[in-house]
Amino acid sequence: MNKYGLLLTGVLGLASYQASAISIVFDYSYDSSGFFADAQRRSLLEAAGTALGSRLQDNLGAITSDSVNSFDVSFSNPGTGASTSINNYSIVENTLVIYTGGRDLGSTLGVGGYGGYSASGYSSFFDTLNRGQTGVDATPPTDFAPWGGSISFNTTANWYFDSDLSTDADIVGNDFYSVALHELGHVLGLGTADSWNTWVNNTDGSFIGNNSLLAFGGAVPLNSGLSHWAENTMSTVNGVAQEAAMDPNLTTGTRKFFTELDYAALRDTGWEVSAVPVPAAVWLFASGLLGLLHFGRSKRK
Ligand SMILES: [Zn+2]
Repeated sequence: MNKYGLLLTGVLGLASYQASAISIVFDYSYDSSGFFADAQRRSLLEAAGTALGSRLQDNLGAITSDSVNSFDVSFSNPGTGASTSINNYSIVENTLVIYTGGRDLGSTLGVGGYGGYSASGYSSFFDTLNRGQTGVDATPPTDFAPWGGSISFNTTANWYFDSDLSTDADIVGNDFYSVALHELGHVLGLGTADSWNTWVNNTDGSFIGNNSLLAFGGAVPLNSGLSHWAENTMSTVNGVAQEAAMDPNLTTGTRKFFTELDYAALRDTGWEVSAVPVPAAVWLFASGLLGLLHFGRSKRK
């Protein structure tokens, strides 16, 4: 028998968002390798989070643990890959928290996914777990409303950290910003959510969500794991052809933004995606603990 206490502390810069955008907050407290010690890397990751979050117009409800209701989250520790839990978790409205770090991933550039949870308490508390997105509970599921998840980047890859996102002509190596967008796609449910699987045709390995059908001009072939588009799937960004962000590969020396097809798949997975980024006229920033200070209980294992 082995007892341990888990203490997590951290001050997060938390954006107080406009009503119609989702704040994607990155938490580096599991970055044991120090991959994100460099502020430029954090800033690029946060730019990717803002690029996607500013397009999402869902109103995600808060989930608030208290003395009788508990929401216990689990996710892949980005520094080790081990399953990690935080008990009595709370998440504020319109916010996703993503635990982020790096480790040696061999030949893979990054891994990302949404977090799991278990809960106990009154039925009124359970009613809050879909964050107000009733399609989460439909059969089959038509919506997705995670609390967040985790992303890990390969500490041994040859990365390119762009100091100027306005141009992609200078990229050498693997474009970190592109991989950040791709892994965020997985956290948002692309290739991972039950509501993604709703639209997978297992017979021919294609994706048949209505928005994707329209964007692609037919059923979209999937890669063998059914969690990515087939290799080299093409779509457009502002009318310009580009390989889709959610195919399995990134060509060295290139950048991939989210394409029309990738956004269509977010819609099919249940997200309300604006046609253009929501104007960020009213962004206010505050620092503080804001309920994100967690004291894990002693556990036996
Ligand atoms: Zn992927």
